[in-house]
Amino acid sequence: MNHDFSKMSCAEFQDQMAGFIGSGEDLSAHPHLKHCADCRALLADLETIAEAARQLFPSVEPPDEVWEHIESAIKRGD
Ligand SMILES: [Zn+2]
Repeated sequence: MNHDFSKMSCAEFQDQMAGFIGSGEDLSAHPHLKHCADCRALLADLETIAEAARQLFPSVEPPDEVWEHIESAIKRGD
């Protein structure tokens, strides 16, 4: 079962986005972002948050709950 990332919905993409960022994955070339300005803007916001978290906690991995907070914040914004 192939998953075509370029056809995934914004909700599907956003479900995975915080996890990708949390794992340090580079999402800038993700096919969904090529045609979705909304998700590009959301990703930019999340990367700003992630960068701030790395500066606040340079020596530790952000706990999973940080990303859960971000994910639930995204879902509340819908
Ligand atoms: Zn989208």
